[in-house]
Amino acid sequence: TCDAQDKQWSNGELQPYGPLPMYPSAQSLNYGQAVFEGMKAQRSAQGRVVLFRPDCNAQRMHEGAERLSMVPPPEDLFLDAVKQTVAANIDFVPPQGKGSLYVRPLLIGSGPILGLGPAPSYTLVVYCASVGSYFKGGQLTPIDLLVEERFHRSAPGGMGGTKCAGNYSPVLVTQLAAKKEGYSDVVYLDAKTDTFLEEVSSCNIFVVKGKTIRTPPLQGTILPGVTRRSVIELARSRGYTVEEVPVTVEEAMQSDEVFTTGTAVVVSPVGSLTYQGKRKQYGEPGQPSPVALELYDQLTGLQQERYPDPFGWVLPVC
Ligand code: PMP
Repeated sequence: TCDAQDKQWSNGELQPYGPLPMYPSAQSLNYGQAVFEGMKAQRSAQGRVVLFRPDCNAQRMHEGAERLSMVPPPEDLFLDAVKQTVAANIDFVPPQGKGSLYVRPLLIGSGPILGLGPAPSYTLVVYCASVGSYFKGGQLTPIDLLVEERFHRSAPGGMGGTKCAGNYSPVLVTQLAAKKEGYSDVVYLDAKTDTFLEEVSSCNIFVVKGKTIRTPPLQGTILPGVTRRSVIELARSRGYTVEEVPVTVEEAMQSDEVFTTGTAVVVSPVGSLTYQGKRKQYGEPGQPSPVALELYDQLTGLQQERYPDPFGWVLPVC
């Protein structure tokens, strides 16, 4: 926890998972000062438990906290809390290749306040849970995406570039409606022109044409995914041209392949994209597309220490 006055963070302690005591007037419950992160700890082929680029999550939480006028936790405190949580839950890390321990750092304005203003105090909690693959059908089963035509996820000058809690509740209605119709998830378009792809509810999006891979640029309306950034670097190191440029729905419909990236989804091939009632099928039904498959293999190989890590992205915990 941290008092907003002196901005000094006190060292936390491990506690059994359970309810958090909170004032009804806690800032985060009323005015939404809450940012979180999603990370994974995995058993590696070297027989240890490792995290993937946790410094990037610390940095993103810092930036999000500043955008929401919160007191960001120092990077070393963040990393220490994450490592301690993983170490205390080591028995819940699934065997190598069989899943991971999802780790959720959550920063909230926990102190009470009645009028609109930043919280008088902040709390960082880290909790975790064992997880398998995110989408139904297993990790490399292609997903069916619906382009959302009614709601936007974020607007220029808004909060889309942060992982704040408030980004997620307004769009649940679209995701739930799409799932009811059999889609895996929705893709959001830009709020200004309704033309360009932004991202999926919990992942970034890429389109492939030949050896060129394109993904929407970071202009404050989409989340700067750690996986997005890593896949861009990995793809470039494997000879692909990767461009961070606006991508129209039309272009996505005409591309060879579409895939999504995220900590939870890893690299997920897209089997179909539906927009204004038109459905584009990519490749053979049920078969993962080749570039997504290659990047999935490279990324998970690195994350699980099956391949050498020339980038220095893997951090052993124990
Ligand atoms: N976009 C959104 C909206 C997300 O919630 C996530 C998951 N954190 C991502 C993209 C992917 O980010 P990352 O690769 O850091 O998990």
